[in-house]
This record gives sequence, structure tokens and C-alpha cells, in this order.
Amino acid sequence: MSPPSLIDTHPNLSDAAPVALSYELFPPRSPAAAETLWTTIRELETTEPDYVSVTYGASGSNRDTAIELIDRLLLETTLRPLAHLTCVGNTPEQLAGIIGQLLDTGVRGILALRGDLPNDASQPVNGSLRYAQDLIDLIRRVEQRRSALLCAGKIAVGVAAYPTRHPESPSEEHDVEVLLAKQRSGADFAITQVFFHSSQYSDLLTRARRAGVTIPIIPGVMPFTSLRRVKRLGELAGVEPSAELTERLAAADTDIERLHVGVDATVDLANAALDAGAPGIHLYTFNEHQSALEVLDKLALPRQTRSGSRSIANRGQLAS
Ligand code: FAD
Repeated sequence: MSPPSLIDTHPNLSDAAPVALSYELFPPRSPAAAETLWTTIRELETTEPDYVSVTYGASGSNRDTAIELIDRLLLETTLRPLAHLTCVGNTPEQLAGIIGQLLDTGVRGILALRGDLPNDASQPVNGSLRYAQDLIDLIRRVEQRRSALLCAGKIAVGVAAYPTRHPESPSEEHDVEVLLAKQRSGADFAITQVFFHSSQYSDLLTRARRAGVTIPIIPGVMPFTSLRRVKRLGELAGVEPSAELTERLAAADTDIERLHVGVDATVDLANAALDAGAPGIHLYTFNEHQSALEVLDKLALPRQTRSGSRSIANRGQLAS
């Protein structure tokens, strides 16, 4: 009798994979901002996200506050931090030191970024790494040197992906080639820049899969509850916000109306991204919890949490 086929004995994994949930936070710039942030962190913690990402200034301007925040998250909360790290303006030696410091605090996930170039720099700073891809290579080299300390485990390396052309890039196709290069260097997953139309995310997925990108591409979604922020983010990312959204936000008379308009638009966008195959949702919180929680309530994501499988049901906080 022939032995049973390995394929036949594989467990059935045809069930839908659980959807990941994560939040972006930035290091506080003052003691008052730190207090607000910690209220936000405690509120977000109750939703049991899979990880929270902590931003990092280009050229490491806020390195100490970023590492301090990550340290506190690890020591005082149940949250798993994903540390953003930018390479622009830093030498490989400096960056290797920071990567080592992050690993020593217990970080096991790094979002490898180039960072925005300073306005006056048309050339890379002398001796500094040039692209995010170079930073991934460096992270993987540090990981290899520390293999025994990590019990031969891997650091999860994330990268940025762009639903609309990166401002310095010649085309969206070039952006996808860069994403593929980052995957080949060892990126495990990508989080997208802000986008305003669901087709921008689904088209990115199509372009990326066609080019051979297989890593998860998680949509980064901002709660559209502030007109000023929507416009500012649109400018920074070189993305045109939808005219309908800006008009509706401008026409809203009260904060609660703006919250309704913004949350509904964000939920629609996130649901469309999930329908297109998004493996999770990354919420840009701007260190505020209210709109993030409202979005989450309305999304009712099917999630696997540490305290058991559940979907976060609509708590009905917004007056309908
Ligand atoms: P890269 O992937 O290096 O790309 C930068 C430019 O170089 C692109 O135009 C690309 O097309 C081009 N390029 C890359 N590789 C090559 C190559 N091999 N050959 C030719 N051209 C190439 N910024 C911060 O300062 N701090 C943060 O914490 C931060 N967090 C972010 C989180 C997310 C999810 C996203 C999407 C962005 C974030 N940013 C952050 C912004 C990011 O730093 C900027 O968008 C930056 O301009 C590009 O970073 P990158 O990692 O995509 O760079």
C-alpha cells in the first residue's frame, strides 16, 4: 500500500484568511501631546490590533522620542510595535546602530523607508544610503549577524507602496518595479500611501501582481474627518482628494457632521479595498482615537484576536 499523499493530509486552508488591523502613531512633540497620545493608545489597545506602527523623522530628527515611545509600548502595553526607519541622511554605520538598538528593545518589525529628501538636497547626503531597498539589505545583514540572538527568527520588514505615482517617480510602472526590487531584497509586506479612490488601490494590486509582486499590500487609510488634513495629505503625497469628499466636508457645519461624512467615506474606501482583496487595513490615526474607532465600528472586520475570533461589531456610537 502506498503511503498517504502529503497533499491529501494537508489541513484545509480554504477558509478566508483573517484580516489584519494596524494603526499608525507618531512620537509626541510635547508633554501635553504625550498625554493625549497615551489616552489614544489605551483606547486603541482595547481593539487588539495586530501591530501599531511608529513613525520616524526623515534623517532621524525624532529618533530619541520614537525609540522612547516604542520602548514604552513594549514595556507597558500588549501592543506590538512596527518601527518605521528612514535612511536618508544617515550612514550605514549609524543605521546599523539604530537597527541594533531597536532589536535590543524587543522590536521585531521594521518599516524600511527612504524618507523625504530635504528641500535643498538634489543629491544623496554623502555616505548616506540612497534608497529604501538599501536599508532592507542593511536590515537583513544586521539580522544575519544577530541570528543566534533572534533564535534564527526573522525580522518582519515592511516597505512603502504607492497607489498613485510617487512624486519623484517617472511612472506608476516604475513604482511597481521599485516595489518588486524591494521584495527581492527581502521585504515581507507593504503598506500603501494615502489614497482617495478605491480604483487606485485595486489598480496597484493588479499592476503589482502582474509584475510578480507577491507580498501582502496593505491599504493605508486615513479617517477623512478633517478637511485641512485631507488637503494637506493630498499635497504631501501628491494625491488629489476626491472633489465630492472635500465639498461635503466643507459643507458640514458641525464637528459631528464632519465626523459622519469623513467616517462614512473612509469606511466605503476601506470596504472597497477589502473587496479588492486587501489582506488588512492600516489606519493612519494622527494620534487620535475617536475617528479611528468609529471607522472600525462601522467596518466590522472579521478578525482573529488574541482573546479569540471575533468581528468588531458596530457599537452604534454615531447617531444615525
Ligand atoms: P524608495 O522606495 O527608496 O523610493 C524613493 C524614490 O526613489 C521613488 O521615486 C522611487 O521610484 C525611486 N527609487 C527607489 N529605488 C530605486 C532604484 N533602485 N532605482 C531608481 N529609482 C529608485 N517618511 C518619513 O520620513 N517617516 C516615516 O515614518 C514615514 N512613514 C511612511 C509610511 C508609509 C506607509 C508610507 C507610504 C510612507 C511613509 N513615509 C515616511 C514617506 C516616505 O519616506 C516618502 O514617500 C519617501 O519620499 C519615499 O520613501 P520610500 O521608502 O518609498 O523610498
